[in-house]
Formats: sequence, structure tokens, C-alpha cells
Amino acid sequence: MGKTMKKVFFVDFDGTITKIDTCFLMVNTFAGDGWKEINDLWERKEISTEECASRTFQLFQAGPEDVKKLLETIEIDEYFKVFLGLCRERGDDLYILSDGYDFIIDKVLKRFGIDVPYYANKMIYQDGFQIACPYLNPECGQCGACKSSLMKKLGGQASQVIYIGDGHSDTCPAGKADIVYATGYLYRYCLEKGIPVVCFETFRDIIEHLKY
Ligand SMILES: [Mg+2]
Ligand SMILES: [Zn+2]
Repeated sequence: MGKTMKKVFFVDFDGTITKIDTCFLMVNTFAGDGWKEINDLWERKEISTEECASRTFQLFQAGPEDVKKLLETIEIDEYFKVFLGLCRERGDDLYILSDGYDFIIDKVLKRFGIDVPYYANKMIYQDGFQIACPYLNPECGQCGACKSSLMKKLGGQASQVIYIGDGHSDTCPAGKADIVYATGYLYRYCLEKGIPVVCFETFRDIIEHLKY
């Protein structure tokens, strides 16, 4: 099969679609002392997402109902729905790729009436929370849900692969997209590594930059 004229957008969830990182909020709210040190190790890529989550969940003093309640406070980018509507009008594809959790993404998207395919880690509750990583890529070794391998799998037919993100879990796929829209840490990372990047604050900036 040849290439199509379609663009495909791969969009990070936490801190990109949501205004604040839901994983950070959850850990900051429910984990006892010690989580910051674990998170630092993860940010320096000294431990994988899987190990980081397993160790952090051991510090948790909460159950699924507590997490659900916290998620009711989450807000999303006001222009994300507009952007999604434009994607659909033009026949372009959009996938959410997250190194966070299916449980969280599902709850937040439903609250805002958004239906988008997403790929993420699983958050399981069984004598405490646990992480499961169905999209682990052994060649990567860092991500729980490896965005690079998902992008390769899902973006093969597209004329243009566009990545949108903000954080540490976006560094793996950023070098592999045709265009990167970035904010926060990811923007600084791309500049440092010489990866061509466009800065954005909200999805409105992306709509304007694409002349979408
Ligand atoms: Mg993020
Ligand atoms: Zn990866």
C-alpha cells in the first residue's frame, strides 16, 4: 500500500491535553514521602516507567474512588475539541499516546464527551495499585507505553507524522516525527538536541500554525 494524503497526529495526554499532569497530581496527592526521589530517577532515565510506577504505588494511601474524585477537578485545553473537530473534517487521524494510565484517560475523556483512540499503561487495583504495560518495547527499555514503536505501527500510511507533547515521556518519539509541537520540558529538550520544533501554548496555536 502506498502513502495516503492523511496527516496523523500523535498527542500526549498529561499536561498536553489536560492542563496539569494527572499522574503528577495523583502522586503528589496520594503518595507518601519518597516519591520525589523515585521521580527524579525516572526523569534522569535511570529507572523505567514500569519500575518508577511500581515503586511509587507502594507509597500510595488511596483507592480507585479517591482517584476518581480527584479526576473530577481536571481541566483540558479549551481548544482541543475544536482541533479534534478540524482533524475529523479533514479526514486526518489522531491518536493519544500516553505513558500514563488508561483509567485516567478514560474517565477524563468521558467527562468531556470526547471519543479518541488512546494507547497507555494500565492501572490495576488489586491490594493496592499496580501498573501493567501492554505497549512495552524491549528495544526502548525506558517507556511503559513506548510512543516510538506505537507511532511506527500506527503512522506508516500517513503523509505527515505530527507529534504534540510536553514532557519527559515525549523525548523518545519527538526525534521520529516530521513536525513536533512542544511546550515545557519537551520544547527545551528539542532545542537542546537540535530537533526542529514549534512552540505552542494551547491547541489554538497549533490550529493557526497549521493554517488548519
Ligand atoms: Mg505530558
Ligand atoms: Zn520508548
